[in-house]
Amino acid sequence: MPELPEVETTARGIAPFLIGQKFVSVRVNQPSLRWPIPSDFSQRLLNEVCVSVTRRAKYLLIETETTKILSHLGMSGSFRLVDSKTPLKLHDHVQILVGSLELRYHDPRRFGCLLWADSERARQLIDNLGPEPLSDTFCGEWLYLQSKRRNIAVKSFIMTNSVVVGVGNIYASESLFLAGIHPARPANRISFARYNNLATQVKKVLSCAIEAGGTTLRDFVNGQGEPGYFQQTLSVYGRAGDPCKRCCHAIGNRMIAGRNSFFCPQCQT
Ligand SMILES: [Zn+2]
Repeated sequence: MPELPEVETTARGIAPFLIGQKFVSVRVNQPSLRWPIPSDFSQRLLNEVCVSVTRRAKYLLIETETTKILSHLGMSGSFRLVDSKTPLKLHDHVQILVGSLELRYHDPRRFGCLLWADSERARQLIDNLGPEPLSDTFCGEWLYLQSKRRNIAVKSFIMTNSVVVGVGNIYASESLFLAGIHPARPANRISFARYNNLATQVKKVLSCAIEAGGTTLRDFVNGQGEPGYFQQTLSVYGRAGDPCKRCCHAIGNRMIAGRNSFFCPQCQT
């Protein structure tokens, strides 16, 4: 599933090719995504000039002079910029022509969406989101204040959208390992100092993942590559039974709030 770093990588990858460009042709081949693509999608976007491509949580926002698209990649969605003569692939649901390049939205499982950002549905999705993990608002003090009276597991706590957006299962597991905090520890039983460290580690892990994705940016142009998942650098996620990179104890895993969670029983308390 595309996570925050993949969405950020996508936004950074396509932005230079879209900003300032006119959408000279817009085609919707399959409107039935998680929610239907609006029926006036092609008509409203035709001849619009793109002014920005940004990310909020795991949503991609493509803004033109008069309107804005909000997109979520769902389970299997991706945007690719290809030469406009490239043959269409199965599941290429939307085509937006910009000069000699074409932006294509591809989504085999069709759990993604493309909506007008000012629609009621889109507003429901983004209006009540918590702070961005890489913003200054997200810090140890914020986590500490939010954790009062919440005795849920800290891993679930940092995966809660109203606390901070975009910290998925992989990134929560990795950050907690680096901060030495056990994922099942109740959120309200963690000191301010430890939350300070955790906020730093969350930022570090996400920034590294974005950088790793960034190395494949050129692939968005030739349509060959997939965004990087920086798997070679994972310390605990998916490594149950393997030795901890710090202490050599076997990495444990257990379900926490319905999510498979990986941790070192010795290094994380
Ligand atoms: Zn360890």
